[in-house]
Amino acid sequence: MSSLESTPVPAADEGAERSNFIRDIIIEDIRSGKHGGRVQTRFPPEPNGYLHIGHAKAICLDFGLAAEFGGKCNLRLDDTNPSKEETEYVEAIKQDVQWLGFQWDGLYYASDYFQQLYEWAIQLIKAGKAYVCDLNADEIREYRGTLTEPGRESPYRYRPVEENLDLFQRMKAGEFPDGSRTLRAKIDMASPNLNFRDPVMYRILHMEHHRTGDEWCIYPMYDYAHGQSDSIEGVTHSICTLEFDNNRPLYNWFIEQLGIFPSQQYEFDRLSLTYTLLSKRKLLRLVQEGHVSGWDDPRMPTISGMRRRGYTPEAIRNFCANIGVSRTNGMTQLSYLEHFLREDLNRHALRVNAVLRPLRVVIENYPDDLVEEVEAVNNPEDAAAGTRSLPFSKVLYIEQDDFREDPPKQFFRLAPGREVRLRYGYFITCRDVIKDGDGRVVELRCTYDPETRGGNAPDGRKVKSTIHWVSAAHSVDAEVRLYSNLFSNEDPDDVAEGRDFLSNLNPESLEVLSGCKVEPGLREAVPGTRYQFERLGYFCVDRDSEPGRPVFNRTIGLKDTWAKIEQKSKK
Ligand code: ATP
Ligand code: MG
Repeated sequence: MSSLESTPVPAADEGAERSNFIRDIIIEDIRSGKHGGRVQTRFPPEPNGYLHIGHAKAICLDFGLAAEFGGKCNLRLDDTNPSKEETEYVEAIKQDVQWLGFQWDGLYYASDYFQQLYEWAIQLIKAGKAYVCDLNADEIREYRGTLTEPGRESPYRYRPVEENLDLFQRMKAGEFPDGSRTLRAKIDMASPNLNFRDPVMYRILHMEHHRTGDEWCIYPMYDYAHGQSDSIEGVTHSICTLEFDNNRPLYNWFIEQLGIFPSQQYEFDRLSLTYTLLSKRKLLRLVQEGHVSGWDDPRMPTISGMRRRGYTPEAIRNFCANIGVSRTNGMTQLSYLEHFLREDLNRHALRVNAVLRPLRVVIENYPDDLVEEVEAVNNPEDAAAGTRSLPFSKVLYIEQDDFREDPPKQFFRLAPGREVRLRYGYFITCRDVIKDGDGRVVELRCTYDPETRGGNAPDGRKVKSTIHWVSAAHSVDAEVRLYSNLFSNEDPDDVAEGRDFLSNLNPESLEVLSGCKVEPGLREAVPGTRYQFERLGYFCVDRDSEPGRPVFNRTIGLKDTWAKIEQKSKK
């Protein structure tokens, strides 16, 4: 299994059919025969960064609704801003959408429509609905007014059509420097909706575009490009996040003025997660300033980071299906996402033995050269996963944490004189503790009871704990990377005056352990494979692994804090 395996589209039982207000609108539109009952959506990322878990919510909605109603969903790269866009991002976006389990019908770029958008702009100029304005960006802002004050009309607002046509063509021909002129829609400088106060349609930008090269030096603004792109493709339901609520009237205005296919926009709540930043601009800073190793650093909330961390597409889709869709922005608990992750990994991850911080155990009464094979269960949740055999020998490693020389009351694991069960192996009793010159425990001398093979004593005596282990001679050295939240604050943007989100970075979000010992079957572990290390958590093989020297990322620990919260609230 490669780390990029594609998975099937969500099954109905994953909650894709869960009701929400957009789905209700679609059902009603189909019933009334609007657009001939046709449903078409699009997912329109700007290729200025990698997709994150917030985008996953939009993807599940856009693709999920189209699939549910037998419609189409296009992937459209919204590439109207050449200064921030790159082909690397386009490729990453395509890969991430597919990895999540979705396949687009058409793959389009807003830049495919530059010529059409230009012709429509000329049409609007001819209709007296657009003009070339010589105000600069600051002046435009100043003239726009505020929420409480109306704007002022630009001195260029009443330029004759012929002059506008001439100037706009010369803008396109590259005669004017960046920022010296714009094309603006002529709407209403007194409108209570600021977006209606003669919005900019085109700006001059002499800059290479990742697809059109230097063909264009005028670029359409989001509001002028988005609705028309939807319309060209025949999108029926254009779903986006709530911050575009105020742009909807303008979206409709352009479509009406041009008399083109009436796509309609619907807004839903943006996903926000505790301890997580979901803004490409800020994530880019983390990458550029080296706070993380890259866009796919396993601590990043990007799809590629989550994939590398060990998230499954199913877990992400189940989460998205369960968070709901509304018109109120809220904050979702990170533990809720992790709950779906554990649930899926618990079902599918193979169990293996690994010791992160090894402590040597010598079983004094075990024959020197004997190696026994004991049988271990691969996944108690899935009988079909079968069993495997593990070598058991005289020298083992156990977890340092599983031994206490001076055990507190509630500590039932190994201690001097105490007997415990080695999972799938034997009962052992600790007889002696060997220390180094600094008083650190470096080895335990134990004895085993040969009658307890498999984990039960024929005389029925009980032990209070079962611990995991690996055979020293057979184990494989591994590196394990332990991750915790990248930010210490629930809201990473909650900062003191004069500081920014970087001040909330958790300095301990990564701990690298070397010299970990894993069972022999993991020697050639394939990058992307997910395991449960018994008693420790879920781990995923990293792409930095080399043959014979695997590297694991801890995806998540075993404890489900969300389930606990839920239990508590039920009481
Ligand atoms: P960012 O601020 O991270 O750059 P964006 O909204 O500018 O996000 P786009 O590339 O324009 O990113 O987003 C593509 C689609 O994904 C849009 O429809 C957008 O509304 C949606 N989207 C982006 N972030 C979220 C989020 N946190 N929750 C839900 N949908 C989102
Ligand atoms: Mg954006």
